[in-house]
Amino acid sequence: METTEADRGPGTVREEAFAALRAGFSGELLRPGDDGYDRARRVWNGNVDRRPALVARCADVADVQRALGLAVDQGLVLSVRGGGHSAPGYGTNDGGLVLDLSSFKEVTVDPVARTARVGGGVLWRELDARTQAAGLATTGGTVSNTGVAGLTLGGGVGWLMGKHGLAVDNLLSAEVVTADGAVHHVDREREPDLFWALRGGCGNFGVVTSLEYRLHPVGEVLGGMVVHSLDRAAEVLRFYRDLCPTLPDEAEAYCGLLTDPQAGVPVIALLLGYNGAVEEGEASSGPRASSAARWSTWSLPCRTWPVSRCSTSPTPSRACTATGARPSPRRSTTTWSTSWSTRPPGSPPR
Ligand SMILES: Cc1cc2nc3c(=O)[nH]c(=O)nc-3n(C[C@H](O)[C@H](O)[C@H](O)COP(=O)(O)OP(=O)(O)OC[C@H]3O[C@@H](n4cnc5c(N)ncnc54)[C@H](O)[C@@H]3O)c2cc1C
Repeated sequence: METTEADRGPGTVREEAFAALRAGFSGELLRPGDDGYDRARRVWNGNVDRRPALVARCADVADVQRALGLAVDQGLVLSVRGGGHSAPGYGTNDGGLVLDLSSFKEVTVDPVARTARVGGGVLWRELDARTQAAGLATTGGTVSNTGVAGLTLGGGVGWLMGKHGLAVDNLLSAEVVTADGAVHHVDREREPDLFWALRGGCGNFGVVTSLEYRLHPVGEVLGGMVVHSLDRAAEVLRFYRDLCPTLPDEAEAYCGLLTDPQAGVPVIALLLGYNGAVEEGEASSGPRASSAARWSTWSLPCRTWPVSRCSTSPTPSRACTATGARPSPRRSTTTWSTSWSTRPPGSPPR
């Protein structure tokens, strides 16, 4: 049975406007009732259940211009979706147009200039895999399936930032399509105001179709996660508060109230990473030297996920740290884990 305009519900795109868009569109257009629509409207946060009038999976910059034109002409609410990881669900809407960039997957790495040009729909794990093949990386999110563009446009805190700054500090240039359909190539010299706005201004300045980053040599890193039961949250947070000022630039430490990925119960976790000489990390220097004593005097019920070394290639370093550094045959557990655990040095594991 054919789906009619009325079946598609409120916020419907007028049939003739849709036909005009479809005529020149290279990507995929999905409306309520179409096969694949329910999958296409889904975002990372499963609590967000919205029904856009149209999901436009753009294949190229011309598609972006066409989809934007339709949204402007029809006065539709517009959501730009990169990696779809916005917790409040900014990558979708009810009754409007979702401009989906998930096909913008191109990554070009220049190992000599140490730069990477990245499509607006690339995820961090996809970028890391490409840059790590050249022993390089740039500051990115703690979770590997977040969108590179969305994270960067919000500033971008993450692994490596102590040493290399935020994601925006490493953004060299961007290609942007503004609401009037114009394509802009912006950097510090060309349209510096727009470039400035992109560097932390989140969305709504335009659709960012590609971004260029500065890369840094990043070799083997250490990373891991220490999980405590939630009733110890106050103690863990106090510890975290005191730990942070002691960290060297090479180290990152995050504290999160999470659902334990294995047990499915609420926990508090410390996510730890060290991007320096592995021996220094293993030798309990820096944060561990100052904190090991305090860790060891704790008698908290704690499960330590072994801290692992991750080689640069072919395993992406951030993929390891971001997933909690689960033990894997490709990674060797180091002595570092004992420094992060709560048991006194030399005592048997709980
Ligand atoms: C589990 C989790 C972990 C996170 N970890 C971190 C972290 O370590 N560091 C950090 O800084 N943030 C982190 N965030 C926040 C995250 O960076 C933001 O939610 C970001 O917006 C996600 O980007 P996305 O492309 O995946 O999102 P989407 O849902 O696709 O987009 C969200 C919004 O970003 C804008 N946007 C995305 N792509 C484009 C584009 N190509 N052009 C123009 N606008 C665009 C749009 O306004 C869009 O509505 C995390 C979020 C989650 C859910």
